[in-house]
Amino acid sequence: MLLPSCIIIRPSFRITTTFYKPSSHWRHHIVPINHSRRLSVPTFINSASISTASSTTVEDHTPSVMAQDGSTPHHPLQVAKRLEKFKTTIFTQMSSLAIEHGAINLGQGFPNFDGPDFVKDVAIQAIKDGKNQYARGFGVPDLNSAIAARFHKDTGLTVDPEKEITVTSGCTEAIAATILGLINPGDEVIVFAPFYDSYEATLSMAGAKITCITLRPPDFSLPIEELKSKVSKNTRAILMNTPHNPTGKMFTREELGQIASLCIENDVLVFSDEVYDKLSFEMDHISIASLPGMYERTVTLNSLGKTFSLTGWKIGWAIAPTHLIWGVKQAHSYLTFATSTPMQYAAAAALRAPDSYYEELRKDYKAKKEILVEGLKSVGFNVYPSSGTYFVVVDHTPFGLPNDVAFCEYLIKEVGVVAIPTSVFYLDPSEGKNLVRFTFCKDEETLRNAVGRMKERLARK
Ligand code: GLN
Repeated sequence: MLLPSCIIIRPSFRITTTFYKPSSHWRHHIVPINHSRRLSVPTFINSASISTASSTTVEDHTPSVMAQDGSTPHHPLQVAKRLEKFKTTIFTQMSSLAIEHGAINLGQGFPNFDGPDFVKDVAIQAIKDGKNQYARGFGVPDLNSAIAARFHKDTGLTVDPEKEITVTSGCTEAIAATILGLINPGDEVIVFAPFYDSYEATLSMAGAKITCITLRPPDFSLPIEELKSKVSKNTRAILMNTPHNPTGKMFTREELGQIASLCIENDVLVFSDEVYDKLSFEMDHISIASLPGMYERTVTLNSLGKTFSLTGWKIGWAIAPTHLIWGVKQAHSYLTFATSTPMQYAAAAALRAPDSYYEELRKDYKAKKEILVEGLKSVGFNVYPSSGTYFVVVDHTPFGLPNDVAFCEYLIKEVGVVAIPTSVFYLDPSEGKNLVRFTFCKDEETLRNAVGRMKERLARK
């Protein structure tokens, strides 16, 4: 018989395998917070990926379970060992749940408003002008020049657009190309938790040995003594992010100076993800590459998406001295070879935007941030200060749910708002169990509605 494309499960069957972290993590996650046995998968995760077949006739010869992704007991999902611990990304899961439950999506960081016409028009024109074949592998010359000019303006550093820049398909590819192009299996790489989920997956693909340092609330400041104790001659690189997703922390000049000294002393590289650099509110963004002695050991990573509200375009880049960009460029050549040609022309136009564009962007986001932060405080959350990005992290424990996943489940189903549980951003998920992330990259009405729902339906326990 023809099976519907959704999952079919006998009513008595319970899937406990679909999840975004390995069960061992979840055991770890759950034990300290009252559950003495293995976590049964939160129902909202199940409901995203399976639906019970109580209303569907399933005959005896049909497989007892078929997942949405097409796996069956006879054909389990196959994935190479380097990726087997990673499941569907939390952003994908949460955005589908938002749709499924009609919840307001303050989870995945994508604006619900469009990018500027002056950028879109250039893309349309480029397509009409026939700029539709492969681009030069490391970027169309116009974009490389615009990136170099922007970087000079922002940091004072002069880079050769032809020799020190590689354009990639979003910053996520730039991160992957940097790691795959410069990290050997067994190399030690330091990351700061909480960290963006692709870092761990990509480091795992490269066979890196991950050393993690946790930034802790309330200010998520750099634990310098811990960093000192972990950086050694065996450290190959530090992978960092400022302004920092998910916390909104921005590394101060003093912290960057401390990282820089350790890197210089121990001959360590820095991979610096700065995609939220234009969304800095409480202080000025500083690129670590601009500190004395750092450019020669830093790969600076950035993208178009956040600054121009065009996250779907996937235009990113890496900037590094010739001796480091070579590895990045080689990995990029064999990962994607080149990036969308017309969008690169438009990206060049975007980066040449006048200062007023960036000022306006910051002003708009400041207003949105205010609505969300004040709103969350009035709902009763303990809101941690966020200096940059379009995210804010809160402590959800006043509402009495046992952990971040349970809280987000409740929030989606009972309140109609989506947030991101932060435990997915830690090597040890229990470290994130009290924290959830909200984004304010949504129009003001959406933010007010979300706050309204929480005020009405979330009760402190
Ligand atoms: N960077 C976005 C966020 O943190 C998500 C991007 C993605 O879904 N991969 O929300």
